[in-house]
Amino acid sequence: MSHHALDERPPTAFPARHGTEVDEREPLDEFEAGELAVEYDAAPPQEVLSWALDRFHPRIAISAGGGAEGMAIVDMAWRVDPSVRVFTLDTGRLPQETHDLFDRVRDRYGIEVEVQFPEAPQLERLTRAHGTNPMYRSVDLRLLCCQVRKVLPLTRYLAGMDGWITGLMREQWATRSDIRKIEVDHDHGGIAKVNPLADWTKREVWDYVRDHDVPYNELYDKGYTSIGCAPCTRAVAPGEPDRSGRWWWETNAPKECGIHCSIYTGGFEHELHALLGPDGGAGDADRGGAFGP
Ligand code: SF4
Repeated sequence: MSHHALDERPPTAFPARHGTEVDEREPLDEFEAGELAVEYDAAPPQEVLSWALDRFHPRIAISAGGGAEGMAIVDMAWRVDPSVRVFTLDTGRLPQETHDLFDRVRDRYGIEVEVQFPEAPQLERLTRAHGTNPMYRSVDLRLLCCQVRKVLPLTRYLAGMDGWITGLMREQWATRSDIRKIEVDHDHGGIAKVNPLADWTKREVWDYVRDHDVPYNELYDKGYTSIGCAPCTRAVAPGEPDRSGRWWWETNAPKECGIHCSIYTGGFEHELHALLGPDGGAGDADRGGAFGP
């Protein structure tokens, strides 16, 4: 794959207009979000991104997990505004190919990816209590691992933001079939959640990636159709649903980790409080409720 230098960036068709001071920006309320969701429902993703960056930059960032959807959005947004912010959650269990991808993002776009890590004391308590691979022992322990390695770091990061941008698509899984392009994210303090590819198909994503020579995760060339942590993701056979390679050993559990929808089982939450440490995780809970009733 070739890497373009920054000065090869083509002129943008959707110029950003950052004329508003950060502290003057109003949070989205449900009414406005509903109107915007209708207004932008048929809009191309670049137009949605242009609106989002105009409204919230620099207090908005793209969530990139190593999948082609996130990479397509990074490329689109960079063409709107090369100072766009990108973050990722380094769970400590990512495959080498995903680390390689983020190095290529740095080289190609000059973006300093904001890598978020789990808090060491929480991770130490999790590992001491349940070993390195608790995910295979029960759904609750898998969700506990996802909470410590993904959900809590995301909550901490978003506590300082007014919005985030995701690569969610309605066709990915039943739990995502009704997402809107612009939403209020009540799981993260009522900030904006922008899903520019909500109505796109996998085919459209890959057409964009190929047409624009966007860096993509080499795991796709090895039969993967969804990108996640190494112990929890595997290649799938042709024709299988894209997310069937995630937590493949589980039955009757959502193929979600909790970062895009709150998950409550009544099982892992008690242990989570113990793992959060002496303050009971007050900091995380106060900042937006990664878990709750
Ligand atoms: Fe842990 Fe697997 Fe969740 Fe990654 S996907 S955080 S390794 S349970």
